[in-house]
Amino acid sequence: MSILEKLRQGPTLSYEFFPPKNPAGWASLYSTLGETLKQAPDFVSVTYGAGGSTRSKTLDLVGRIQGELGIEAMAHLTCVGHSRDELHGILQQLWDSGIRHVLALRGDPPKGDTSFKPHPEGFAHASDLIRFIKDNFDFTLGCAFYPEKHLEASSLEADMNALKLKQDNGADFAVSQLFFENANFFHFRDRAVAMGIDLPLVAGIMPVLDIKQLPRFEELSGCRIPADLPAFLGEIVEGEDVVDRGVAYATRQCDELLRGGVAGLHLYCLNKHASVMRITENLRALGHLVRSERTTA
Ligand SMILES: Cc1cc2nc3c(=O)[nH]c(=O)nc-3n(C[C@H](O)[C@H](O)[C@H](O)COP(=O)(O)OP(=O)(O)OC[C@H]3O[C@@H](n4cnc5c(N)ncnc54)[C@H](O)[C@@H]3O)c2cc1C
Repeated sequence: MSILEKLRQGPTLSYEFFPPKNPAGWASLYSTLGETLKQAPDFVSVTYGAGGSTRSKTLDLVGRIQGELGIEAMAHLTCVGHSRDELHGILQQLWDSGIRHVLALRGDPPKGDTSFKPHPEGFAHASDLIRFIKDNFDFTLGCAFYPEKHLEASSLEADMNALKLKQDNGADFAVSQLFFENANFFHFRDRAVAMGIDLPLVAGIMPVLDIKQLPRFEELSGCRIPADLPAFLGEIVEGEDVVDRGVAYATRQCDELLRGGVAGLHLYCLNKHASVMRITENLRALGHLVRSERTTA
């Protein structure tokens, strides 16, 4: 069953992983995968690196998760540094390994560059990549959206127009940047509906593990840190207490989103299972994400 069909049946649960850089990271990832898959997520996704060898690891990992662990896996893919022919080759490789879902992205400018420069034979926007994939393959396509605006966008409206274009060019659903204020997500969703965006909008949630992360989240992702979040997390900067409170905050956020009819929850794991497992268990205890009413084929 495609992710789109699952989204139509009710809110989905998914986890995001990245290909590790070293053998210790791989060992830890496999243990994380083993744990998180006990929660029977609807799908998992694997990020695509900015360059170098991690890129081929995305293809390996996504194929192994789907082939060996039997869970629907979505490959992220970016336009960074790739010509159309290269992208076609990667997509063919994904298709041949049984992958049927791609999260089509533009990607960030490489480190040191201030603006995104498309490959001379590649694409400038995610919407162009989406059109290209739809014209050449039969993947179900996800795309990114930003409830609090993409960092480079001149306004929220301009960024929403970019999302509309992704929909018009063939995206099937959209997954959000991490955010901590649900009101901003709901505001975005209302405006999106009003402008004819009817894609399922999946919320990306990242549990806080360490208070020192917060300024970096804000800088890199453009998400706003609500005034009450640092107080909720407490005085302690890192350690178990912060992790517990991060789980409690994310659980509260997810509960409210589910009660507000969110299309799905995409939990950013950072390749660690403990917090996302606890959030999932908390949500099930609250009566959410119950599988029995759904077809799992
Ligand atoms: C769920 C999720 C997963 C991600 N996974 C990865 C990953 O695996 N690897 C990775 O490198 N990065 C990843 N990213 C980060 C992403 O690559 C960056 O946020 C990137 O800067 C924008 O990508 P995009 O696909 O949203 O680009 P676009 O949709 O192309 O948007 C980029 C900017 O251009 C503007 N824009 C778009 N179309 C037009 C147009 N036609 N005319 C004028 N302006 C336009 C938009 O408003 C926006 O400001 C992810 C982001 C999210 C939310």
